Amino acid sequence: MSNHSELMKFVKEYPDFPKPGITFRDVFPMFSDPQALQSLVDACVDIVSRGSRPDVILGVESRGFLLAPLIAYKLGIGFAPVRKVGKLPGRTACESYDLEYGQDSIEVQVDSFKPGQNVVVLDDLIATGGTLSATCKLAKKLGANVISCLTIVELKDLGGRAKIDAPVFSLITY
Ligand code: IMP
Repeated sequence: MSNHSELMKFVKEYPDFPKPGITFRDVFPMFSDPQALQSLVDACVDIVSRGSRPDVILGVESRGFLLAPLIAYKLGIGFAPVRKVGKLPGRTACESYDLEYGQDSIEVQVDSFKPGQNVVVLDDLIATGGTLSATCKLAKKLGANVISCLTIVELKDLGGRAKIDAPVFSLITY
């Protein structure tokens, strides 16, 4: 498998999930196929390797937890989790962002990285960009230099990347 469009067939679409009118794009088939998983990790490592070297890759709950450590391992760098509020112990910092109805917040442990360190932010999918944009703001608030954001899937029509003050790379766009 040599190009990212090959990975597209491993994204399974579920109409009306988790609620009517929403089409959920499931990337787990990409993880369960050994060759697709290798291609996925290699493609991400390739993208990250083209920029400045990161010190830490931040993975956003929950599918970011699965992919980010695989990339970190290959690059010989660290991984840190970005979680929903109230799940991480110790000193944390928080950032809120708007949803269609209401707000949500994400949290990171303040010692996940040091001020001035280079950080890449990874999530499985960018839709409105709220989650990634809040994660970037949070990382910057703690002094990180956000090199880039990386996602497997981008829902381009929602224009999420415009909210993000860092280069955004995605492997598959709809
Ligand atoms: P955003 O904040 O609107 O960009 O939404 C992105 C977040 O919602 C990510 O953390 C995704 O994991 C999750 N998400 C939204 N839609 C989907 C989907 O179709 N498949 C998988 N995750 C999704």
